Amino acid sequence: MSEKNFNFVDEVRRRRTFAIISHPDAGKTTLTEKLLLYGGVIRSAGSVKSRRSNKHAVSDWMEIEKKRGISVTSSVLQFEYDDFCINILDTPGHQDFSEDTYRTLMAADNAVMVIDCAKGVEEQTKKLFQVCKMRGIPIFTFINKMDRAGKDPFELMEDIEKVLGIRSYPMNWPIGTDNNFKGVYNRQKKQIELFNGGNHGQSIAETITGDIDDAKFSSLLGEEIHEKLQNEIELLDIAGDEFNLEQILNGQLTPMFFGSALTNFGVEPFLQSFLDITTPPKPRASNLGDIDPQSDNFSGFIFKIQANMDPAHRDRIAFLRICSGKFEKGMTVNHVQRNKKVRLAQPQQFLAQDRIIVDTAYPGDIIGIHDPGIFKIGDTLCEDQSKLQYEGIPKFAPEHFAKISTKNSLKRKQFLKGITQLSEEGTIQVYKRPNIGMEELIIGVVGVLQFEVLEYRLKNEYGVDVISERLPFRYIRWIKMDNFDASTFSLPMDTLLVEDEDKKPVLLFQNEWSIRHAIERNKNVVLKEVSL
Ligand code: GDP
Repeated sequence: MSEKNFNFVDEVRRRRTFAIISHPDAGKTTLTEKLLLYGGVIRSAGSVKSRRSNKHAVSDWMEIEKKRGISVTSSVLQFEYDDFCINILDTPGHQDFSEDTYRTLMAADNAVMVIDCAKGVEEQTKKLFQVCKMRGIPIFTFINKMDRAGKDPFELMEDIEKVLGIRSYPMNWPIGTDNNFKGVYNRQKKQIELFNGGNHGQSIAETITGDIDDAKFSSLLGEEIHEKLQNEIELLDIAGDEFNLEQILNGQLTPMFFGSALTNFGVEPFLQSFLDITTPPKPRASNLGDIDPQSDNFSGFIFKIQANMDPAHRDRIAFLRICSGKFEKGMTVNHVQRNKKVRLAQPQQFLAQDRIIVDTAYPGDIIGIHDPGIFKIGDTLCEDQSKLQYEGIPKFAPEHFAKISTKNSLKRKQFLKGITQLSEEGTIQVYKRPNIGMEELIIGVVGVLQFEVLEYRLKNEYGVDVISERLPFRYIRWIKMDNFDASTFSLPMDTLLVEDEDKKPVLLFQNEWSIRHAIERNKNVVLKEVSL
């Protein structure tokens, strides 16, 4: 992509890979679009994708399927900025597909958390934040919509600390709000940056800069705002946390930026600061210890599988996060879990709306590879014979459950094939009761719309009509216990013991009270919300 010639070491060093998380409507799509605008990928905003209304998420999904393209929800966007090569892992907007987001976060090196300044931390942000925290990746906060009335910035800092349990370090501080958002004070550069132009967010915004005590700002901002700003900055410097790079890189302190994605204000300074602070891909844990991205051995893992939407072929695209070595088109690699060789013939990369065939790719990059049905989420591919396996991708707790069977018993084979493939794609999680055959399957999903997608796809891709009956369970816990023995295990009446696909014991609960009850009754049991 770049005109410059970078060697392998430089290529790795200039990579930055991150995902944007937010509660729906906080402005993730708009911010993504603006980052692409600054990256020069798009010339005017509003061209990346149309707004997806929450209500129509399933039908959108089906519409996309009809077009037989890679869904916009699964895109990985790559662009260049200032010699950096940036990969944004896009995630579905609708919370019912948030399991996809959880997995995508496994492939990201950093997360950007977009918060609506009027709403503060919302429900979905909380859940996604927990996944980032579990991974210990750096989390950047972008307080969005500063062009509108919002909460007091100090209140937002408090909100983040109280609700998410992470302290924040404001990298910049807003000057004026509601229609009167004039710019920010940049705490690193110790200067005021006033926004100017930007053509209502269509094009890149310009800034007027200067020292905070510069008298010109009293007239530009008005004395009252200028004085308030000076006081607030003083307060932050005295009472706030210090900038601590190590804590930021360990995900213990979140650098916080104020801006408005819609008007572009604060977007470019955010991007520059983000690039400044973040590191290139780091070594990743595996069964052979940490793997250095600069190693010669090409390796990566699959974090997402997307049906390729072509019913005639039923092929799929597996998304591979490259962790080490150089990828070259056509190379043959080992599929470690299956102990098989695979040729990566038509690898794809994603540039804004376009898919292109990629010739080379580097650690931090994501490539889409054709999957004839051999990949599972969490699989490792590597070039040498080392049997390297990256740490698996956890299964996240579904919140809705249904019993499902085929209407027509002659279609059992297709039914099971469909269920298996959809479960490998991570669309659903499948459980069964111990000692009961495959006649009665229990399906767990994170969002109820996944049930609709399941029924739709079983019918359209596998020709199977299903009967499904919703079950009253809302919570799932994986049992961690040495020598687990179901017969000695004491359970509340309304709780069900099942096995997951790996035959691990799992409990389905209807309420939190039952979970506490199970823990009290069974000493030495540890119940986990995530399975690995
Ligand atoms: P997502 O669901 O998080 O992807 O949110 P979107 O980017 O689609 O934005 C949701 C709505 O908020 C849209 O109507 C946007 O135009 C609007 N929006 C996004 N950013 C801003 C902003 O900075 N200021 C204002 N006023 N509106 C914004």
